Amino acid sequence: MFTARTTRIQPSATLEMTAKAAELRAKGVDVINLSVGEPDFPTPKNIREAGIFGIENGHTRYTAGSGTPDLKNAIIKKLSRDNNLDFSPKQVMVSCGGKHALYNACQVLFEQGDEVIIFSPYWVSFPDFVSVTGAKPIFVNTNPERQFEPVFNDLEEKITKRTKGIIINSPSNPTGGVWSDDAIKRTLEIAIDNDLWIFSDECYEQLTYDMPFKSSATFSNNSKIITFQSCSKTYAMTGWRIGYTAGDKGLIKAMSKLQSQSTSCPTAISQYAAIEALTGPQDMIETMKAKFKKRRDYFVEALNNIDGITCSSPGGAFYVFPNIEGLMKNYGYDSPSSFSLSLLESEAIVSVSGESFGSNSCIRFSYATSKNELERAIVKIKNFLKK
Ligand code: PLP
Repeated sequence: MFTARTTRIQPSATLEMTAKAAELRAKGVDVINLSVGEPDFPTPKNIREAGIFGIENGHTRYTAGSGTPDLKNAIIKKLSRDNNLDFSPKQVMVSCGGKHALYNACQVLFEQGDEVIIFSPYWVSFPDFVSVTGAKPIFVNTNPERQFEPVFNDLEEKITKRTKGIIINSPSNPTGGVWSDDAIKRTLEIAIDNDLWIFSDECYEQLTYDMPFKSSATFSNNSKIITFQSCSKTYAMTGWRIGYTAGDKGLIKAMSKLQSQSTSCPTAISQYAAIEALTGPQDMIETMKAKFKKRRDYFVEALNNIDGITCSSPGGAFYVFPNIEGLMKNYGYDSPSSFSLSLLESEAIVSVSGESFGSNSCIRFSYATSKNELERAIVKIKNFLKK
């Protein structure tokens, strides 16, 4: 009844868990939601006010399909200020979130017969973006002891004549891993040698805690590197739906054409507010980052104190991805999802099990929630395991 391409994809596991948490909350259950993929801070006041100003002053109509010239200029300024990258307006387009930008790029670049390299564990949406085009996702192993950097032998072995693209995501969802400069450079070298399109999903670029972030495109001027960023996580603007792509002019033109025939344009009001986000005061980022770092340090240590859990300290984003193999063995769970489900049913703690990210040994917790909630979660997990 429905097309083959629709049957090739799965619903987003993370959005499903978010919905489950909301459902339980609506029933009055005292839920601890560690599945959230968004900052728990409000959108800063100056950005909210810019949105209101936009509504009151007529920024409420269709815009150019690829985004307003003013927002494109703000993006160009931001990429130069924060990432040391130079782009012209024809190399930039705005989409309904980074997700839509990544989806559009896959639609424009990949099709049946192509293969696309994805590093595992991966963000839930990457394989679906690829397989909906008819192309095949090819998974490459990573090293959990080294911020989930690529296992390079595996990468080299998995590249074939059919490989057309590779997706880098540092800082990563779900692992929080931040790759070293060397790992990024080596990955780029391999990708460039094989003439691949290189996606650099940098939606967590502002959230690194142990070393400054460097955008992939700063390491090479290869025209097949595509930079994807977003206002969502950086400015606590997930619901405003503004993300952007910067890269090759021809690719941006093709993506803009596709977008003009699908969503017409990203929301005009959000685009107006995003100009304030990108060019207004930036100090809230540091405030948010300092809070996330404290929570990460607390949570990683507390998880490592639980019997059977091993958690390396991720360098960025707001997720931890502990290995729970010991716990599963000690307490008789046959999969991360069975543990995740028990936590939900018994303690009302919402997590996302590793399987949806390509891991049979880990579970994802988000620390985009208050320290108090994290402390409560640790107490509950410990008590639960004692039972
Ligand atoms: N890329 C990664 C790795 C993500 O985790 C997300 C959101 O969770 C996105 C891209 C897209 O975010 P948005 O569409 O809100 O910009």
